[in-house]
Amino acid sequence: MSTSVEKIKERLNIVDLLGSYIKLEKAGKNMKARCPFHNEKTPSFFVSPERDSYYCFGCGAKGDIFTFVQEFEGLDFFGALKMLAERTGVTLERGSFEKRDDKEAIFNVLEAACQFFESNLPKSNSAQKYLQKRGLSEKTIKDWRIGFVADDWRALYEYLTARKFSDSEIEQAGLIKRNKRSFYDRFRGRIMFPIRDSAGRVVGFTGRILPEADDGKTAKYLNSPETAVFNKSRIIYGFDLAKLAIKKFDYSVIVEGQMDIIMCHQAGFQNVVATSGTALTPEHLTLLRRISNRVIMAFDADKAGFAAATKAWQLALSLGMEVKIAEFKDGPNPDGRVNKDPADVILSENGKEKFKEALKNSMHIIDFYLVKILTEKLDERKTGKEVQEKILPFLALIDSNIEKAHWVKRISEKTGIGENAIWEDLKKVKVEAGVAGAEVKTGEFKDKILIERKDSILRRVSGIMYWLERDRDNLINIEETKLQIKEIIGEENYEILLQTPEQILNEATFEAEQYYEKKRIQGVLDELLRELEKEYIGKKLSQAKTPEEQNLLIKKLAKLK
Ligand SMILES: [Zn+2]
Repeated sequence: MSTSVEKIKERLNIVDLLGSYIKLEKAGKNMKARCPFHNEKTPSFFVSPERDSYYCFGCGAKGDIFTFVQEFEGLDFFGALKMLAERTGVTLERGSFEKRDDKEAIFNVLEAACQFFESNLPKSNSAQKYLQKRGLSEKTIKDWRIGFVADDWRALYEYLTARKFSDSEIEQAGLIKRNKRSFYDRFRGRIMFPIRDSAGRVVGFTGRILPEADDGKTAKYLNSPETAVFNKSRIIYGFDLAKLAIKKFDYSVIVEGQMDIIMCHQAGFQNVVATSGTALTPEHLTLLRRISNRVIMAFDADKAGFAAATKAWQLALSLGMEVKIAEFKDGPNPDGRVNKDPADVILSENGKEKFKEALKNSMHIIDFYLVKILTEKLDERKTGKEVQEKILPFLALIDSNIEKAHWVKRISEKTGIGENAIWEDLKKVKVEAGVAGAEVKTGEFKDKILIERKDSILRRVSGIMYWLERDRDNLINIEETKLQIKEIIGEENYEILLQTPEQILNEATFEAEQYYEKKRIQGVLDELLRELEKEYIGKKLSQAKTPEEQNLLIKKLAKLK
């Protein structure tokens, strides 16, 4: 009898699955795509239907449908298994796996708790009234599985132990706390919002205090602690419900609070996600970026959460993501408050249109700061200082020099500061370690997003050369190719290249054999060399000292496009 894994593999071929996540193009017997796991403009990610596997020449990501889903969705193996089983209609038998996952018990406790909270909601008038007042429909409450827990020390604990869950399992799920004598519930007298992972499994909760109990002393929102299944910096609230829409519209919108995201979805904006209990992190962005490179940040720029996300924006820019800011200024309510949160805006008159409008008017983060500085109407010296402090750190992280040049020109036009002065200052900006050049860790998988692209191209070129050097068909002119490489990368780098260890060359040769078709090899090689040249010119451009030098290089780059 075949295992669940085998059954799933029989029903789902790798091209169909990966094709539902990323855009695949035909490349001979194989398919290729831009790698979802590292930053690249030309495809080096190959899928082989024959071998049921994928491989990326840029970052080395490889595996089958299960590893792909794990890495792409930020899931563990069983999360991926559950998702693919649902997709293929394969029933998973409990204990049918060679290695039982220890997390399985925790997931089961959390699911039982979620059902308990849901079943309690009808029992609280106050909770229902609150949700109604915030404008949530019955359907929304159901879809988001919102529940309630009474103000009782052991309601949940007793419910779960009666269902044969052990103290240790309940504690590991973060649902109870311990005092000297006994256990008691962590969440008491709260409206409960489950937090789910991208496979839709409950991993934790946020509990909101009832309005009448809000004395200003007790925390308004209480989150589950981090557990084996809940990692705040990786879980994106609503990701399971938003990911398809993010793919469809090719951008995501990030809001700050649970209520905000729920109201957005209810109003039909389904590509909205939220962070939960933490500021936006690089890990969150890494996950979003796999689906779409474009994000709109829709939260109050005056609030702490915005400033706390600065690191994440910097990373986003260095990854080549497009970051925009949408501002909500719907002004004052009858009670004098200004609507600044998406939930308030959506509930106000013509709320949907206003929200749409705000997204439409969202500004690139650099423009956003530029406008902010200009509205302050400072003198020239102060404006210059503000540009230096608030804008250049972002600009320095943009990888593309053409894009950089665009922004320098724009800042110069708007502020009157000379382009040269901006370029000079830009060179002085120290890119903080930990932002660029850092590897972003997502769980077990190390995202080698910031691997130097030129090195990966060189590796591919070398692989092809060593493969065909031993080939008798003389498909490419090896000597000629060597000269071309030397010209592009320079004498010095070429010497270093010649010292590449044998093992790396063998690997690269093997990869080339596996993935390239011989008859198309000259075309592939030409393209690679062109890309290599672009990378090297780009590097020179970033070190160019005069505008003339820069213009010359930009022209050269444009020719290669
Ligand atoms: Zn890759």
